[in-house]
Amino acid sequence: MQKGKINVQTENIFPIIKKFLYSDHDIFLRELISNAVDATQKLKVLSALGKTDVELGDLTIQVVLDEKKKTLSVIDRGIGMSADELDKYINQIALSSAEEFVKTYMGKSDTDKQALIGHFGLGFYSSFMVSKKVEIRTKTYSNEENCGAVKWVCDGSPDYTMTELKAHDRGTEIILHLSDDSTEYAQEFKISEILKKYCKFLPIPIQYGTQKSWETVEGEKDADGKDKKVEKDVARIINNTIPAWTKKPTDLTEEDYKSFYHELYPMNFDDPMFYIHLNVDYPFKLTGILYFPKVKRNFEVQRDKIQLYCNQVFVTDSVEGIVPDFLTLMHGVIDSPDIPLNVSRSYLQSDPNVKKISSHIMKKVADKLEELFKNNREEFEKKWDDLKVFIVYGMVTDEKFYERAEKFCLFKSTDDKYFTFEEYKAKIEPLQTDKDKKIIHLYATDKNEQHSFIKVANDRGYDVLLMDSPIDMHFINQLEQKFEHAAFARVDSDTIDKIIKKEDAAISKLSEEEKTRLKGILERNVPKETYRIEFESQTAEDMPMTIVQPEFMRRMKDMAALGGGGMSFAGNFPDSYNLVVNANNDMLQTILNETDETRQNELVTQFFDLARLSQNLLKGEELTGFIKRSIALIK
Ligand code: ADP
Repeated sequence: MQKGKINVQTENIFPIIKKFLYSDHDIFLRELISNAVDATQKLKVLSALGKTDVELGDLTIQVVLDEKKKTLSVIDRGIGMSADELDKYINQIALSSAEEFVKTYMGKSDTDKQALIGHFGLGFYSSFMVSKKVEIRTKTYSNEENCGAVKWVCDGSPDYTMTELKAHDRGTEIILHLSDDSTEYAQEFKISEILKKYCKFLPIPIQYGTQKSWETVEGEKDADGKDKKVEKDVARIINNTIPAWTKKPTDLTEEDYKSFYHELYPMNFDDPMFYIHLNVDYPFKLTGILYFPKVKRNFEVQRDKIQLYCNQVFVTDSVEGIVPDFLTLMHGVIDSPDIPLNVSRSYLQSDPNVKKISSHIMKKVADKLEELFKNNREEFEKKWDDLKVFIVYGMVTDEKFYERAEKFCLFKSTDDKYFTFEEYKAKIEPLQTDKDKKIIHLYATDKNEQHSFIKVANDRGYDVLLMDSPIDMHFINQLEQKFEHAAFARVDSDTIDKIIKKEDAAISKLSEEEKTRLKGILERNVPKETYRIEFESQTAEDMPMTIVQPEFMRRMKDMAALGGGGMSFAGNFPDSYNLVVNANNDMLQTILNETDETRQNELVTQFFDLARLSQNLLKGEELTGFIKRSIALIK
């Protein structure tokens, strides 16, 4: 028996590993199983190369929990270690990285310490996060001398023992004696949960416990003459060793992609809209499948669904910095051995490889969308409503993506027609160019609420776009900068003739004297601080009064509501609207001719309320008053 002292300079490293290595202690199991997978794959490679003639046999890795004894074991049938190798790899190399962690850790300020947690890779020694004692029993595949089985034990102090073992199968068994404050890991479901998260797609089968299965008994029939079946306990394999992203796209059907999506997200019942199979060899290695989910309006909650793997080992599902921000709305997997895993996020973001990966993925996504658009415009339009937020978000946040997407991004009009930017320009240019040569894009944010305004615009032959998602406000700002000689105006931002200025003066039926008189009557009945009264000469058929809110005013308020643009003061803007009186509507004459002042006030208020009603501004008591008055007027 060999006794040794792990050569530690920094007092005892184990308490520090235990507390600070990973904020997420679950990681230890991923590390141990990854080592087992590596050892197994190494043996497979040696065998394939003819470097060994050992019988590979069943290579399944076993995870065994003894709830009573509070031990957890990971057993593999891989290459194993000789005593010398164990000494070298575990006592020296692995330990020195454990020491390095502790040294780095101790030398840092408190905030830097925080940043280090979870970003320093320690494989085997991470098991001390949850164990009071760790045992290794191992036997190398090699039959040379001095290659008998060995046992290594360390109880979390710098002392370890190494003894010869009489008999042990080829491979390595790591036995964790769970520490008293880590007994949660002595629970069946806890281990199941960790395996599900980290090991679901590992390339070597992993068995954890057993499950019931019906098996056919050879040559025997039951009473009905069918093959006889008996219930048996069979090994429960928790992983899919050949997940879809590792296969060739030509070997996969649409159905395969869909079912893999559901394997990834068992709780998500929606089918994805479509997918991209990534396969890059140079300048970095990367495989994966990305899915476009149906993006709902509240897209924040759907983020962070992409899972990042390193050689089929789950690493993280927070991929910010690795894929462009808007692509975090996508679902799926990315697998790359070239992404540095155990480093801090800020490091990751500045890593040149990661930057390349990010722009590569963006290009692939743009390619796919363009291809869909070109190959089947009809299908693309059908999917547009679900795709829109995603694409627009990409355009607003990523200049490069904008350049790609302006070819296939669609405008949707309030009558449900779709246009590319180019098509739309051609459509509206003849009618919707104002006297300053600006092409005016009219838009509505709510088809129902702005219905009367949309109708007036359509009646004049103008088209109105539907811009009804929260991101559209930013999109409009962006488009105004990108498009030449163009402006966007919400359809109720002013009366339509004023939005699209054609000529200046039109003839007004009301004389100046009548206007002054009418203004007086209005001011008696309309809150002056909120409504600015102005006269306009529209057609006789247009409403007698309309309420509008200037475009710039509403945008300021919207921006302030979002808390953006350093305009917090705007949050206190009082509401302010224009009350536009149509000087050509004959009803106004009725008001002027009315001799009974009470009746006159009633009529004015009625028109004012109608205007408020069509802007959804009439509420509560005032709405009740309006309804009562309407009934009285009908009588
Ligand atoms: P890493 O896996 O990053 O090299 P570890 O501390 O996890 O670091 O392991 C140190 C070394 O110990 C490994 O590189 C490997 O040589 C050896 N080792 C660990 N686990 C096993 C195992 N299950 N079978 C064979 N060798 C192993």
